Amino acid sequence: MRQVIYLDNNATTKIDERVLASMLPYLTSEYANANSTHHFGVQSYEAVKTARSQVAKLINSDPNEIVFTSGSTEAINLALKGVAENNNEKGKHIITVHTEHSAVLDTCKFLETKGFEVTYLKVEKDGLINLEYFKEQLRKDTILVCVMLANNETGVIQPIKKLTELSHQKGALFFTDATQAIGKMPVDVRDLNVDLLCISGHKLYGPKGVGALFIRQNEKRVKIPALFHGGGHENGQRSGTLNVPGIIGLGAACEIARKEMKSHSPKIEELRNYLESELLKIDGIVINGNIKNRLYNTSNLLISGVDSDAAIMGLSKPNVEFPLIAISNGSACTSHTIEPSHVLIAMGLSEHEAYNCLRFSIGKYNTKEELSIAVQEIKNVISQLRLMSA
Ligand code: PLP
Repeated sequence: MRQVIYLDNNATTKIDERVLASMLPYLTSEYANANSTHHFGVQSYEAVKTARSQVAKLINSDPNEIVFTSGSTEAINLALKGVAENNNEKGKHIITVHTEHSAVLDTCKFLETKGFEVTYLKVEKDGLINLEYFKEQLRKDTILVCVMLANNETGVIQPIKKLTELSHQKGALFFTDATQAIGKMPVDVRDLNVDLLCISGHKLYGPKGVGALFIRQNEKRVKIPALFHGGGHENGQRSGTLNVPGIIGLGAACEIARKEMKSHSPKIEELRNYLESELLKIDGIVINGNIKNRLYNTSNLLISGVDSDAAIMGLSKPNVEFPLIAISNGSACTSHTIEPSHVLIAMGLSEHEAYNCLRFSIGKYNTKEELSIAVQEIKNVISQLRLMSA
């Protein structure tokens, strides 16, 4: 079988075998509906309860603050639309950032069509938000601030604790998209003092199609209406028969991350640094994003004279003798258009430069051997493409 060197772990991760093993019984023998009152159903209910505690423990919340969803996109929709609907009396102003994931940006655009005013914050060249500028944008009628914890394309980590504090001083709620941070770095909702936060299973070696929204219930309880109506599942917050196997998998992934992420991170960082140090030996390559406040697994490089799509294709060429190297450019592809990355454009790169950027995201299953092969292949592709463009 063809070797795959998978360096696209911010897009999705391979499921951990232990996570899969935890899910299998709930797809085969333990298939009861978690809401059935017979003993068979109670067993599923109990398993979901355990998973809820596992998710809560990873982010230091209470289990009753966790609402299971189909992933981060749904959790983002639930949070943003919910706050918008419930806080109309305070105002109709929302703040977010140009570098957010499209799940946040598109939901904000939708809310604009419903009469909400959205401020899209600029970022500095390194991807960080300037705190003084942030303060100036907060208003009396700001109901919600949405800033992601770690960026999916550059790995840049925003100062969430400080931003939350400033937002709360103005009486605004704070939502953070922690999709990329959870499972890679410690995230403590009490310490960050956020009101809402989203999680996605498939970014931390769990299954796809499952995630969660943290909704603060202690002290200043956050109340948001449901998006899905029906059987009143998840405390009325999200109706629909529970995805028991997915939820069990998410719980297991969170439990494994809580116990093991600290031991994986130095190795992953070492591999990322090795990749960068090797590629930076080549002329015309720079790192995008703040180098200090950045996820240790992510490297986003501007490689002048190298079209990213051509490089991605070149590294996954249909030739079984070569390993397939999976990387990304973080650009939003639809069936008709390929847009340059909105994140890199917001950081001041030209469209041309944005088309010359590649994202490498390392995961716990990558090895030094894989990285050595990848470095060599990437170097080859860069020189071939530069020769062609010259
Ligand atoms: N937010 C960020 C930062 C992401 O990276 C992603 C996934 O790419 C999402 C949201 C959407 O997550 P999901 O696939 O669980 O809907």
